[in-house]
Amino acid sequence: MYDAIVIGAGPAGLQTALTLGRMHRTALLLDSGEYRNGPVEHMHNVIASDGTPPAEFRATARAQLAEYATVELRDVAAERIDGTIDDFAVRLADGSAEHARRVVLATGVVDDLPGVPGLQELWGLRAFTCPFCDGHEFAGKDIGILGASARTAHLIGMLSPIVASITVFPVGEHPTEEDRAVLVAAGVRIHPELVDAVAAEGDGVRVTTGGESLAVAGLFVAAGAVRQRASFADDLGLSMLPSGSIEIDDFGQTSAPGILAAGDLAHRASLPGPVASVIQSAAAGQLAAAGIVQQLAAPHPTA
Ligand SMILES: Cc1cc2nc3c(=O)[nH]c(=O)nc-3n(C[C@H](O)[C@H](O)[C@H](O)COP(=O)(O)OP(=O)(O)OC[C@H]3O[C@@H](n4cnc5c(N)ncnc54)[C@H](O)[C@@H]3O)c2cc1C
Repeated sequence: MYDAIVIGAGPAGLQTALTLGRMHRTALLLDSGEYRNGPVEHMHNVIASDGTPPAEFRATARAQLAEYATVELRDVAAERIDGTIDDFAVRLADGSAEHARRVVLATGVVDDLPGVPGLQELWGLRAFTCPFCDGHEFAGKDIGILGASARTAHLIGMLSPIVASITVFPVGEHPTEEDRAVLVAAGVRIHPELVDAVAAEGDGVRVTTGGESLAVAGLFVAAGAVRQRASFADDLGLSMLPSGSIEIDDFGQTSAPGILAAGDLAHRASLPGPVASVIQSAAAGQLAAAGIVQQLAAPHPTA
């Protein structure tokens, strides 16, 4: 019986395990090897690790965790969670099952990209979603945004002070008159045709649209969606927020006693959505671990 099983070893799960290890709580950390920033070469906006390859960040974290005797890491997927607080059973893809008093969901999210040929190959390398993470690298350059919606206007507002110019490429459908007016007011060019395909060219990207072909330094994706990577939230019937995220309290507690969550997959109801970043995910993992430590340290009501 572990004190906690932590499902997911991105920034959220790694930090959860570190905090539990430092408090001499037993923790089993599970990793199926599917990271949201898997294709990314350099992560940014992470103090003291700005520009570090995410794979190096994870390798360093794993090496540091190996120093804590009560933390065990296994590269295997969790498939199912049964039981209740103080006795959960987590079934693993290798056929085994492990038991824990608490479970932390840190399984992250998946980016569902719009169906533009070539986009998947550029994702995380020359096509991005987060200006905080990747905007500065396009300072003074011409970029494109895929998708022409209200989210596009939001991206334009954030990227305008950084880049030289922005061309909006409609994806799948043309913008509504209302959205078009907002985008035109923002001073960007909206390409009149729907985008056909994108491809790497030199250091940048070639966008093919309506028989025309344009070169940009990089792309930001406004069309697209995010969904839970694992099905545990559904399986356990957890309370969800309009953003599609798991609802948690200040210490990562979900609506199911003993099940906590941390990282991109969860946030508090006071926020409109997850603040998806390495630091925020790690911070959420630290809070979830602190929540577990407090729960387990609390005297039993009858003691
Ligand atoms: C293109 C791109 C670029 C980004 N760049 C930056 C950046 O520069 N700076 C920054 O701060 N943020 C960046 N981000 C955001 C950052 O990647 C996420 O906020 C962060 O990775 C979230 O951490 P997490 O631990 O919640 O999830 P993840 O990092 O996605 O980790 C999820 C973990 O859960 C595991 N898992 C999933 N299902 C199971 C299962 N069933 N069993 C066992 N394990 C499971 C996975 O293997 C993985 O270990 C970027 C995101 C994208 C998409």
